[in-house]
Amino acid sequence: MTRMFPVALLAITLGCETTARNAAVGDTAVTRAAATRDSIPAATTPPEPADSMSIRLSAGGDSVAGGTATGDSTLPALRTADISTPAGDSTAVRIEPLGPQRGGVVLASVAAPGTGAPRCTWKSEPLPCYRNGDLIRAIIPLPADDPGGGFVLTLDASGVAARRTIVIGDRDFGRQIVLLDSARYALVTRGKDIARDARAIRQVLRAESAEQLWQGAWLDPARGRKAEGYGTERFYYRASDSSRVMNLSPSARTTGDFGADTTTLGAGDAPSWRHAGVDIALGRGTPVRAAAAGMVAVASEYVLTGRTVILDHGQGVHTAYFHLDTITVHPGDVVRRGERIGRVGSTGLATGPHLHYGVYVHGRDVDPEAWQRIAR
Ligand SMILES: [Zn+2]
Repeated sequence: MTRMFPVALLAITLGCETTARNAAVGDTAVTRAAATRDSIPAATTPPEPADSMSIRLSAGGDSVAGGTATGDSTLPALRTADISTPAGDSTAVRIEPLGPQRGGVVLASVAAPGTGAPRCTWKSEPLPCYRNGDLIRAIIPLPADDPGGGFVLTLDASGVAARRTIVIGDRDFGRQIVLLDSARYALVTRGKDIARDARAIRQVLRAESAEQLWQGAWLDPARGRKAEGYGTERFYYRASDSSRVMNLSPSARTTGDFGADTTTLGAGDAPSWRHAGVDIALGRGTPVRAAAAGMVAVASEYVLTGRTVILDHGQGVHTAYFHLDTITVHPGDVVRRGERIGRVGSTGLATGPHLHYGVYVHGRDVDPEAWQRIAR
């Protein structure tokens, strides 16, 4: 047995003996999971180009030079021809990042002088979007739960009507079997309590307010080992249940997101959630800072997420901080970027001190690192 990975919210806490027995039952999936438990593989995350792109679109709908908007030549080119603007006019839609992927976030903005309220759609559904001065901006979440592909964004405001197809690249988030000791496994079986907590959390994350409370770049909420684990599908088993073969078929899928899944388990179901944030390895008591200015929407304690702070940054963007040892803010407090909101702990379903950090856009989880690369 080599070093334990202390952070992962649900890092495996078994001794070698049990692991060896599990491996011995011969299920290759289990064997592989056990063998890699000291170095939990990070999700495959090809680097996302940091640059933004801006394409000038002609009103005539001709193909535009430079219209290949993705940073990956294996992806289909962004289509730029399907845009409607007032006759004789043209519209420049700025879209970041190049080559967005599942789990990421897209920022789309267009100049639209005036004061009229904008209307936006994504995948033919209304998408909240806001006016920042003369700019209309839409923030599009691309949660890991949603497939990749090409989807249509529309932005409408007085005098401006833009329609764009944005291609979302695929990404592999990985899957893990997590073995829990009896006390921790007991937490994941508290289905009704977990569902109640999740309803409360989801309600907060759905809140939309027009004012953008943050300015400029975002901070890491704590300094530590590299954050990892966004989007990983995790399946939970009791560690003492070692005489059973644990089959994890290639088609096994989680059904909800950690902390925000309101469904309750059926008899015999293995608890499983997609990891809707990143884990950062830190010692107990390490200060946790607000990643950006915002208002405290939640300062409370829940079964899975432990002592929890959720900040509302405005325009549908929230951050979540789970498993805190102590919370040093109160609901309604306005916090500055970098202000301390609590200290690292291991409350809730955590096997050791670490910070679970989540970013949500319009109620959907996204990869905090992808957001941080473009947030401002
Ligand atoms: Zn976590």
